[in-house]
Amino acid sequence: NVKTKFSDYNIVIENGILANAGELIVEMMKEKALSIGKIFIVTDSTVDKIYGEKVKENLEETGFDVFKYVINPGEDAKNILTLAGIYTEMVELGISRSDMIVALGGGVVGDLAGFAAATYLRGIEYIQIPTTLLAQVDSSVGGKTAIDLPQGKNLVGSFYSSSLVLIDSEVLSTLNNRNLTNGMAEVIKYSLIKDRDLFDKLTEINSREELMSSIDEIIYRSCSIKKEIVQRDEFDHGDRMLLNFGHTLGHAIEAHYKFKKYLHGEAVAIGMSRITECAYKNKMIDEKVLIEVRSIMKHYGLPISDEVENKELLTYIAKDKKNFGSGLKLIIVDEIGNGKIIEANTDFFVE
Ligand code: NAD
Ligand code: ZN
Repeated sequence: NVKTKFSDYNIVIENGILANAGELIVEMMKEKALSIGKIFIVTDSTVDKIYGEKVKENLEETGFDVFKYVINPGEDAKNILTLAGIYTEMVELGISRSDMIVALGGGVVGDLAGFAAATYLRGIEYIQIPTTLLAQVDSSVGGKTAIDLPQGKNLVGSFYSSSLVLIDSEVLSTLNNRNLTNGMAEVIKYSLIKDRDLFDKLTEINSREELMSSIDEIIYRSCSIKKEIVQRDEFDHGDRMLLNFGHTLGHAIEAHYKFKKYLHGEAVAIGMSRITECAYKNKMIDEKVLIEVRSIMKHYGLPISDEVENKELLTYIAKDKKNFGSGLKLIIVDEIGNGKIIEANTDFFVE
């Protein structure tokens, strides 16, 4: 069992940690010399039914005054109206600068509650208890918060770090296969851009049970990779681009299907396979890399192809906020475990 604390980043990964949330928050407060009275939990109704009361009771037993705000599950709730609801409730409860928000849920709850924490009274403390694999390995690390606008995803947000991230892999037992696989797409991404050993380990896992028996280590390695890359490039100008492997095409595919056909990780899996195909066609990599990339996706039941052609995706690529500015920067993997930033033009995608 992995029990880890990234001291500089306050990510604690420990099986069953949900039951000790209060204790760990108190410890964090001591370290940071904070005194917090009220805790405002933001969660969604699905997560609330399974874990909401358990967390609330645990925090109350520790001595906090605890309130819970439950939003609808799913991406549609990550909007300005839900945010307004959160602000209103916090004002009514008299939540002050010395109080704290706890985000209990997947990436939607994390992004929304994080943005509320970043902006309410110009910023209050918040901690995250991510409950999806995607949130545990990706959205809870790196300090990005956001909400969606009708015109596009994550168009309003801020860089705002949580003071503590508590990762309990036990909560993944209730996550459905599709959402688990969705998170695995990001794990596979980390292995492809940075960690050949992790990649080899992933190829040896053959069932959900086997995955769960190594999940703490997989989460730890994933968070380490993201943390290391993000620390070198906190505000997303250079190296952080590596994390965008598969995402230029992935975002375009998501947008093309109006976010209905694929979950994010599924679209990114297609994106990773496709960009690797393009790199191969442009004679930048060996065929064996392409074969390995495709086979790891299939191994985890992720899609590798779709009927939409790359040339139909170019307009979405031009609109993606990450591609603003001159010259299109893309990430390719030239060897398993080695992501690389290249400059390309649209010819790269279409022969
Ligand atoms: P999500 O939060 O919608 O969760 C997916 C579903 O799983 C929801 O229906 C939720 O109710 C349910 N769920 C959550 N935990 C559960 C559990 N333990 N058991 C059973 N069901 C559970 O989606 P997500 O995939 O976690 O996150 C996607 C969001 O994350 C997107 O909005 C994306 O923009 C954001 N994101 C942010 C960053 C970042 O750096 N801030 C990075 C990646 C993704
Ligand atoms: Zn992603």
